[in-house]
Parts: sequence; C-alpha cells; structure tokens
Amino acid sequence: MSAGALPRRRARQVQVRWRDQVVAMGGGAPVAVQSMTNTDTADPIGTAIQVKELAQAGSELVRITVNSPEAAAQVAALREQLDRMDIHVPLIGDFHYNGHKLLTQYPECAQALSKYRINPGNMGSGSGAGSKRDDNFAQMIEVACRYDKPVRIGVNWGSLDQTLLARMMDENSQRAEPWTAQQVMYEALVRSAIENAQRAEELGLAGNKICLSAKVSGVQDLIAVYRGLAARCDYPLHLGLTEAGMGSKGMVASTAALAVLLQEGIGDTIRVSLTPEPGAPRSKEVMVAQEILQTMGLRAFTPMVIACPGCGRTTSTFFQELASRIQSYLREQMLVWRSQYPGVENMNVAVMGCVVNGPGESKHANIGISLPGTGETPVAPVFVDGERTVTLKGERIAEEFQAIVENYVKTKYGANKIAA
Ligand code: SF4
Repeated sequence: MSAGALPRRRARQVQVRWRDQVVAMGGGAPVAVQSMTNTDTADPIGTAIQVKELAQAGSELVRITVNSPEAAAQVAALREQLDRMDIHVPLIGDFHYNGHKLLTQYPECAQALSKYRINPGNMGSGSGAGSKRDDNFAQMIEVACRYDKPVRIGVNWGSLDQTLLARMMDENSQRAEPWTAQQVMYEALVRSAIENAQRAEELGLAGNKICLSAKVSGVQDLIAVYRGLAARCDYPLHLGLTEAGMGSKGMVASTAALAVLLQEGIGDTIRVSLTPEPGAPRSKEVMVAQEILQTMGLRAFTPMVIACPGCGRTTSTFFQELASRIQSYLREQMLVWRSQYPGVENMNVAVMGCVVNGPGESKHANIGISLPGTGETPVAPVFVDGERTVTLKGERIAEEFQAIVENYVKTKYGANKIAA
C-alpha cells in the first residue's frame, strides 16, 4: 500500500500562522513536524539562534517555554529578532501554572505567539465552574479569542488533573466490575483533554482553534490513549511520546509508538521528545521526526541514503565513510536544493558494500554505487536510473561519486524549477 493510500482519521483543520506562514493541522493536511527549544526564553538572542537551527532543520512549528515574567517580556523581541533573520516559523508558547497571568499581563507576548499550549492539569486547584482552575483556564481562552490564536489542550500523565482523577477513581469504585487503575488513568487523560476542549468552546473559542494531545511515556500507553482520543473527537491530534529518553532508546520508543498510530491514520502533527546527548544539536529531534514520516512514506524531506550494514565481505570502513559523507552532503545541500530543485527530497541514493546486493540495490535507487568488497577487483560501478553508467576506481571515488550525484540533481530536478 502506498503512503497516499493510508487511511487518515478525519479531523477538523486548525491553522497556525505567523504573517503569511501558515501551518495546517488536520483536514487532510500533511502531518506537521514540531520541536521545542531548551534555551531560556528570557534570552531572546540565544533562543532565536536555536529556533533558527530548528526551523532550518525543517521544524514547521517551534514551541518555546514561557514560564516567567522575564520570559514573557522577551517573546515579542524574540519574534522580531526571528523576523529580522528571515525566520518566520510560527512560535507556540508553552504555559504552566501562571499562563493566565503572563498572557494577560504581557499582551505583546500574547500577540507575538501563534498558538498557546495549555496544560489543564497545571491550572490551579478545584474543578467545575467558579473554581480557581476554571477561572485561570477561562482567562487563557479569553486571550486566545481576543488575539484569534489557536490553542493546544495538552494533558500529560505527569501532571494530570488530580481532582478529575480522584473523581474518576470514586466513580470506578462504584462500578459492579471496576476498571483497572491503568484503564482509569487512560480514561482520565482522554476525558481531561476532551472536556477541556468542550469547555474552551463554551467559553467562545471556535472549534477550529483547538487541537489536543495526551502524552504519556510508555509506548503501549500512548497507543491506547490516542486510540481512545481519536475515536471520541475530531480535533486534530498532536502526537508525541513524552520523556522519550536519550539516544537510540528515545528514537526507538518514539518511532515504535508514533508509527503504530500514524499507520492507523492518527496524528496531525508530531514531536519527538529526545533528551539531547551532550553536545548533540537540538535539531536531532527534527531529523528523527522527519525520518519517521519519510520512512513510512507519509512525507518526503531529504534524499534518503540506502546503505547496507556491511559484513565480513567488506572489511574496510570506506563504504561506511562514503555513506556518511553522502548523507551529510545531501542534508547540507537541502538548505539550498529545497527551493532550487523541487522534488529532490524524493531521491534515493544507494551506497553498497559489495557485489552481493550492491548492483541490485543500486539499480533500484536513483543513483547507486556498489563498492568493492574484500578480494573483489577495486572498482565501483555506478548506476543511474537503473543503468550502469560509469565505473569508478582509484583514490577519488568519493569525490567523483559526489559530483555525479550533484550533476544528477541539477539535470533531473532543475527542470522542476522552471516548471514551478
Ligand atoms: S551488500 Fe555485501 S557488504 Fe553489504 S551487507 Fe550485503 S553482502 Fe555484506
């Protein structure tokens, strides 16, 4: 089944905009990629530099922490700085505890943000109309209405509305056959998200200004909660495994959870919540999110390199180095190619280690090179659109292959520029 044929859950469309930059979520729009900064928003220059990194990596929405008066006071300056840098990615403000105060006391912040994330579990105590929690929530929704901004009602099981949970536990104890604590937790997450969205609509926010999330940190829990959420509302859903973790664990867990849901058509925007390895770029989470969508065939962002894992038939590291070099080259070039060569993101490049699968896999790619394995004649046939075109040898195989890739891109996708 092609990706285009994958069933998608029908969700109303929510648009997030900054000036003429519009990102649509739901309503048949492509699944959008989000990310979040880890800089202090009170430092607008440092935050602008990181937002730029995330946006240039392909993040279509960037969330920033707005946790203090100092941070709220700098959001407009951050927005202006980004606009001066020609970075028009919409910013989402992440609010907890004091969002009602910050949004009402800093109107420039409310205006400069393109969307507000509201966590109903961190809004104050009580429940129902007239409670402190409801009053704080209403203040944030009133600001969203006034500035015509969408919101994400983002519940999280690390900060689930305890009043709601306690009420549901009580209800459960009255059941003839009580649910497990886990089932009650799932239901509490779903109900918290949907009931707060309904409350926002009662307060005057349009239904097409609301998206939902219900993040948890366990793969099976996330799948169960989002299936429940998807079945019971048509708000667009933001997917993400919260606190996914570091390195390969974070990537694997996020992919395992998101892939199941995306395959079922659930999810209108995603974020991969990786804990960065020391020194690793923040934009790694953008790359992983894109790769999840691209390897599933849902979207294309960057030409993909197909490389074999290597084995005892190729004892040199040359093909690993070449695969890595080509992958880095393609990613770097995409900053320019994205506008110059539309369609290049669909290109596949194969870098293979020996004759066993090398020529076959290379023929399936747009361009492929089959490097010599141990004991083979030191030559590397190159295949372009399935045809063997040239055989490389000697010390400059890497440079020559890269030049072939570059020439192919110009020839094949350059015509798209004229037609576009
Ligand atoms: S293509 Fe050759 S080197 Fe690569 S994994 Fe297969 S047999 Fe091993």
